[in-house]
Amino acid sequence: MTTPFPALHEHGRPILPGATLGVMGGGQLGAMFAVAAKRMGYRVEAISDVADCPCAVHCDRVHVVRYTDRERLAEIARSLDVLTFEFENIPVEAARAMEAVVPVRPGPQVLHTTQDRAREKAFLVAHGFACASHRVVRSRGDLEAAVAEVGLPCVLKTAAFGYDGKGQRKIISADEIGSAWEAVGPVECVLEGWIDFDCEISVVAARGLDGTTAVFEPSRNAHANHILDVASAPSGLPDDVTASARGMAARILEKLDLVGVACVEFFVTRSGQVLVNEIAPRPHNSGHLTINACATSQFEQQVRAICGLPLGSPQQLAPAAMANLLGDCWQRGEPDWAAALGVPGVSLHLYGKSDPRPGRKMGHLTAIAATVDEAIANVTVARQQAVD
Ligand code: AMP
Repeated sequence: MTTPFPALHEHGRPILPGATLGVMGGGQLGAMFAVAAKRMGYRVEAISDVADCPCAVHCDRVHVVRYTDRERLAEIARSLDVLTFEFENIPVEAARAMEAVVPVRPGPQVLHTTQDRAREKAFLVAHGFACASHRVVRSRGDLEAAVAEVGLPCVLKTAAFGYDGKGQRKIISADEIGSAWEAVGPVECVLEGWIDFDCEISVVAARGLDGTTAVFEPSRNAHANHILDVASAPSGLPDDVTASARGMAARILEKLDLVGVACVEFFVTRSGQVLVNEIAPRPHNSGHLTINACATSQFEQQVRAICGLPLGSPQQLAPAAMANLLGDCWQRGEPDWAAALGVPGVSLHLYGKSDPRPGRKMGHLTAIAATVDEAIANVTVARQQAVD
């Protein structure tokens, strides 16, 4: 009888450099994963539905395939030693088809829970993790009843395929219920009570094959137009608040039985309560500063976790801030990168995308400095100097 996997995977033995790591999705998160994995001596193959993707220049191979083509995906899986993903909106069935051939980390059950807000909220409630009060809504009638229960203001979100504030509508008064349902429905949605938060933070954490966890310092996240604008760490919040967020993130990974890296986004209320907003089962935009500021980056941690290697130290070595570079920065032509790089402690990360559409994440800048305030000031100045 033949074993389903080559000997490399048996008995939880680590997958060592020289092996081939697969990543589903071809975007910048996959590209930065590939950079980390290549540096460590792995081969990397991306699976993307477009050929011209940020992964292409960093991977050994890009398989261009529809994420619904289970047979082709299973065939590709035969050339891999382990598979991860950088994009969670892939069909769970596709991940299951690949899992029949190769270890998929995090597993398809994690995708199933986290790619749907209703299931994710049910998971949080079932395990006692604090989150906004909410109701699952499937019709306009449901929405009216849910608004009466949850109260105003509140926010209606599609259960599936939402990101960066897409598929969301805030409801301030009862006469907005109809227009909100028209804008966001008629699909399954979650209605959430509006949180009058003090700030938003996120915690990137890794969990190894042996169940150990390594948790990065929480970052404080400022958004513009629902898209992450600046992330900075340390957050400056009291120790009990950061400890609570870090502890919740680690327990969430354990309860999900997740092997890999995930990010838990939180609201911190004015009274210091930490509420889970959402879970991304992959490295996260707010964790990009770990590349320049931490002993181990979130992407190296992803490689270590999925390969069954010991996790690296998540220790942050310097205060840091990251500013996203959206397509808007190209409005007056190519930004002046030399001006940005003239600011002390600043590094540039460009994702190699050719079409700088407004709102599209094209790259980011990170600044490290003696204090987090200085890092935020420097990264903001660097971005401004680039576009002026
Ligand atoms: P999400 O896609 O759920 O992360 O939401 C995008 C952004 O909308 C969040 O980062 C918040 O700034 C805001 N937001 C979402 N849900 C709520 C809520 N229940 N209360 C207050 N602000 C929210």
